[in-house]
Amino acid sequence: MDEVPDPAEPGPYEAVVESLWSGICGTDVKEFTGHGGSVSRAPHPLTGAGLPLVLGHEFSARVVAVGANVEGVAVGEEVAIMPLQHCGQCLACHQGQHTHCVVKAWTGLSSPWGGFGERALVQSYQLTPLEGISAVAGAVIEPAAVALHAALRAGIGPGDTVFVAGAGAIGALTVMVAKALGASAVHVFEINPERAALVQSLGAAIVPESARDDIAAYLRERTGGHGVHVAMDCAGKPSAHEACVASVRVGGTVGVPAVHPGPTTVDVRRITRDDLTLVGSVGYSRESWEKTVLMVRAGVLPIERIVTSRIGLDEIVDKGFQALAKPGDELKILVQVNQ
Ligand SMILES: [Zn+2]
Ligand SMILES: [Zn+2]
Repeated sequence: MDEVPDPAEPGPYEAVVESLWSGICGTDVKEFTGHGGSVSRAPHPLTGAGLPLVLGHEFSARVVAVGANVEGVAVGEEVAIMPLQHCGQCLACHQGQHTHCVVKAWTGLSSPWGGFGERALVQSYQLTPLEGISAVAGAVIEPAAVALHAALRAGIGPGDTVFVAGAGAIGALTVMVAKALGASAVHVFEINPERAALVQSLGAAIVPESARDDIAAYLRERTGGHGVHVAMDCAGKPSAHEACVASVRVGGTVGVPAVHPGPTTVDVRRITRDDLTLVGSVGYSRESWEKTVLMVRAGVLPIERIVTSRIGLDEIVDKGFQALAKPGDELKILVQVNQ
């Protein structure tokens, strides 16, 4: 914990916000334990930021000041911050694929400001008025957008049977998203009993631990012998990925929002022979972000239900980062930065 000066007055198309609730992400914990690599060390080409900087990329906030040309948000309004910053000049930006901007940056990882600081300077395009969404749910929109984007890329639709490997934050949000998109059944494999209980309460069916050596066979038994339509790898472990590829039916799709720590093998023969589709997904498009907000506002994604603890800023180290650094039952811890 450190004291840093407040941001300067916002320039054109900029705003200063005060953070309300800020979620601790697995990415933040890796930075804390020294296993990270997401934070810019040298000055970032887009933002100029390098260590030390303020973490926190999943947060709701209140607008404190706006610069010239900022429209659609007023001082005092509560917003969610879309942390992805992009240049607007490169090919990916011109194609609307901001996640692939050649100099993309993230507020809370590669900008001078983040949600665990009391105030942050952001670009006006990062502000999403909450308009009826609670400030707590507003801090969960970011990981929910990751889950929705991956599910839309994998084509989850009405009637689909879905397998989700892993019920961390993204896995649990994927269960909600799949349900909202009309999935007829969502099966989850998760060894942590607390996490399994949480996704069960969201309507998921839990694959028992006794089935772990042949999850595909277990799922075929429950899908008329076919396998599921879509499997989502939300675990990032080789065994989970293999289970996903083995579990989908002929013509099925495997979505991969999980960040694997290294290369893994896939049974490519199955992909060819059975017409499978393998779909990677990182971050979210602007469209997926907006659809997430609309779904949360409409009440079809109860995203605040993944929040397992709410703590004060003075507790962020011991009850936040240290609690998440050791394996446990916590899913999403939110830090109240300002009242
Ligand atoms: Zn994150
Ligand atoms: Zn760009």
